[in-house]
Amino acid sequence: MHLAEILRLRARPAAGVLLALTERCPLSCAHCSTRSGPDGAQFGEEPFLRFVSTFTPQERPDLLFLSGGEPLLRPALVADVAARGRESGVRSAALSGMFFARGGRVPPAVRRAVGALDHFSASLDVHHEREVARADVLAALGTVLDLVPSVSVHVTSDDDAYVDRVLGELRRAFGERVPALVGRVRATGRARSFVRERAGPPGGGAEPCGFAMWPLVDIDGTVLACSRQSMARRHRPPHLVLGHAARDGWPEIRRRSMGDGVLRAVRAFGPQETARRVGAPVCAGYCETCVTLRRGPEVSPGMSLAVERMVAAQRPADLARRWGAGRHADAVELGWSGR
Ligand code: SF4
Repeated sequence: MHLAEILRLRARPAAGVLLALTERCPLSCAHCSTRSGPDGAQFGEEPFLRFVSTFTPQERPDLLFLSGGEPLLRPALVADVAARGRESGVRSAALSGMFFARGGRVPPAVRRAVGALDHFSASLDVHHEREVARADVLAALGTVLDLVPSVSVHVTSDDDAYVDRVLGELRRAFGERVPALVGRVRATGRARSFVRERAGPPGGGAEPCGFAMWPLVDIDGTVLACSRQSMARRHRPPHLVLGHAARDGWPEIRRRSMGDGVLRAVRAFGPQETARRVGAPVCAGYCETCVTLRRGPEVSPGMSLAVERMVAAQRPADLARRWGAGRHADAVELGWSGR
């Protein structure tokens, strides 16, 4: 499953679901959007396994995306949810900070977990490189390429020259086998201490919110409509809480995600435009407006549907540009046969 295909799904509401398996991470990167670290919270496996067991071939997302914290701190859980998802035809991907790669290693438990996936993504940027050397990450990726059908790298950097160097090195090492999604550091999580911008989807203003496309099962099993955990976890306004994985299944979560008028409008127009349309206060910040929204007058489903279709019809590289990839946007389509 190529990175470009994942991006296409990412632009379709409820085409996927994110599972944050843990807040724990052996690394403590300075820009971590979830403030993860060695002491991060971790809960039982049951809600995740139960939730994935509610998928059926008829009612299921297309993709399970496993994140954290560091999802590969729970390699058996990664393998189990991927296997259960596959029983209903759901594919799986995971994003790792590559903590295990020091010395270029891929430990046996990690190999088993990665081998259960359809796509594996590695984070690589200056902050991660302070924790695990780039050469070690590339050596480990060489092994991972033999275990999983498709691999990509996520590069989070505002320094174009740095991104050029990393993409060049990936190209020399792997040819067209490892596409990359480039993004910029956003003022969220730990990065708030050194990034000044107000966090929100690129473009701000009336931009659709890409973070609201897929439900997120958070570390404690709460299902949020917003994958920007730091905001949704803290404020929990009604339109951003969809249920709990210990009691709700995919059919209910999907129905709530697709049926909530405020959420649909946030996805289509962004929160500030939504607030204007429903006569609610518009705050200075994008997400700050979103968390003050309350259910109110409906925004026309027809209009939000038209915007959703427009976004979903974009090329993966255009979608990457919306996420801040700039002149490196085409790197998401490297080696993709679906153009
Ligand atoms: S606008 Fe709302 S849904 Fe989107 S990232 Fe911000 S808080 Fe989350």
